[in-house]
Amino acid sequence: MDLDAFRIKAGKEKDELVAFLNELEEQLPASLPEMLPKADMAAWNEVQCLDCANCCKTMTPSFTHDDIIRIATHLRMKPATFKEKWLKLEPRSGHWVNTTQPCQFLLADNKCSIYEVRPADCAEFPHHDKQPLNEYIDTFKKNVVHCPATNAFVRKMREMWEL
Ligand code: SF4
Ligand code: SF4
Repeated sequence: MDLDAFRIKAGKEKDELVAFLNELEEQLPASLPEMLPKADMAAWNEVQCLDCANCCKTMTPSFTHDDIIRIATHLRMKPATFKEKWLKLEPRSGHWVNTTQPCQFLLADNKCSIYEVRPADCAEFPHHDKQPLNEYIDTFKKNVVHCPATNAFVRKMREMWEL
C-alpha cells in the first residue's frame, strides 16, 4: 500500500468524513446495526493490514498492567526491565506507551513479532465493532487519516447513509 498517497487522499477527505460522523453522532439511524457489519466487511475487502501496518509505524498502543506482565513473561524479561527498555508513562493519560515509532515489535514484513501476546489495544484496533458506536465516533474522527480501514469503513457508512 502506498501510505504517502493514502495520507494525501485522507487529508483531503478528512473534513467531509468528520462532518458525516458529526451528523451520525447527532442522529444515529435505526438501520445502524445492519449498516455497521456491512461497512466493516466492505472496508476489510478493500484493505489488508499486512499491506499497511500504519498504526504500528506511526501510532502507539497503550499497554495495560496485564499487557506488560504478559508480554514481559513471553520475552522472559522482568516487567520493570520491559518498561525501562521500551515504554514511557504518558503524564496526561497515565498510560504506558511506546517510546518510539515504529513499534519495536514490528517486523520488516509488517507482521508483529509478539502477535499472540500483543497489547489488547492492538488486538482491538481499529474498534469498528465496539458498542455503543457513539462512544467510538471520536476515535474514528481521528483515525480516518491514520487507518486506511477506518477511512474505508467511514466512507462505506456514508455511502449507505446516502442511499
Ligand atoms: S488497523 Fe488500520 S492502520 Fe493498522 S494495519 Fe490495519 S489498516 Fe493499517
Ligand atoms: S505490538 Fe505488534 S501490533 Fe501492536 S503496535 Fe507493536 S507491532 Fe503493532
